[in-house]
Amino acid sequence: MKYDLEHPVVASIGTEKYKCTVEWRHGKFIADEPESSGGKDKGPDPYTLLLSSLGTCTLATLRMYIDRKGWDVPKIAVSVNMYHEVRDGKTVTVIDRDLNFLSPVTDEQRERMVQIAKVCPISKILEGEIQVRTFAYSDNDESQKHSYTNDDITVVWKPELCRHAARCATQLPTVFNPAVKPWVNMDGATSQEIREQVARCPTGALSIAK
Ligand code: SF4
Repeated sequence: MKYDLEHPVVASIGTEKYKCTVEWRHGKFIADEPESSGGKDKGPDPYTLLLSSLGTCTLATLRMYIDRKGWDVPKIAVSVNMYHEVRDGKTVTVIDRDLNFLSPVTDEQRERMVQIAKVCPISKILEGEIQVRTFAYSDNDESQKHSYTNDDITVVWKPELCRHAARCATQLPTVFNPAVKPWVNMDGATSQEIREQVARCPTGALSIAK
C-alpha cells in the first residue's frame, strides 16, 4: 500500500467558527463555512473544495491531452455543481460538469475531450468505490518511549500514539517490521530514508530525537 500523496493534507480548526487551516505540500490556505452556516466565508467551504478537486483535475487532464495532440485550444473552463436526490430509498449525489472550450473545436474533438474528462483521476475516484477510514489520536499520553539508534540518528517511538494501520511497516518494511523484535531495524535503510518515513507518521508516534 502506498498513499497517493507523500505528505498528507492536514487540516486543523481552533475556536473561531469555522475557520480551518489546510496545510498542503508547499503552504497553507483557509477554508471556512458560508455565513448562512455560521462561518465567515473566509475561504472555500468543503463542498466547494470537493468540486474544485474534480474541476481542476479535469482541466489538467484535458490540457495534457490537448498538448499531446497539438490541438489549438488555448483556454478551457469547467463549471461543476452537484445535487442530491433519493432513488429507491437511497440518496444519490449527482455531479454535473460543464466543459466550455472558449474557442471553436470540432464535434470529434469535443466528443474525445468529454471522454478524456470522464477518466481524469478524480473522476475515477468519485465514480469508483470509496471507503473513508477514521482513526483518532490525542497528545495526552506520552509516558512510554522507545529509542532506536544508528551512528547518525535516533528514532523515538511512542507506542501510545501508534494506532495507525502500519503505514510505516508498509512503506519501509526493511526498517519497520512489527513481526520481529526489535521492530525497528536502523540498518534497514539510509538515515535519509528513515527520516523521510518518520516524517510520514501521521500521529507523532515516530519522531527523530533532537
Ligand atoms: S509508527 Fe506511525 S506510521 Fe507507524 S504504524 Fe504507528 S502511527 Fe502508523
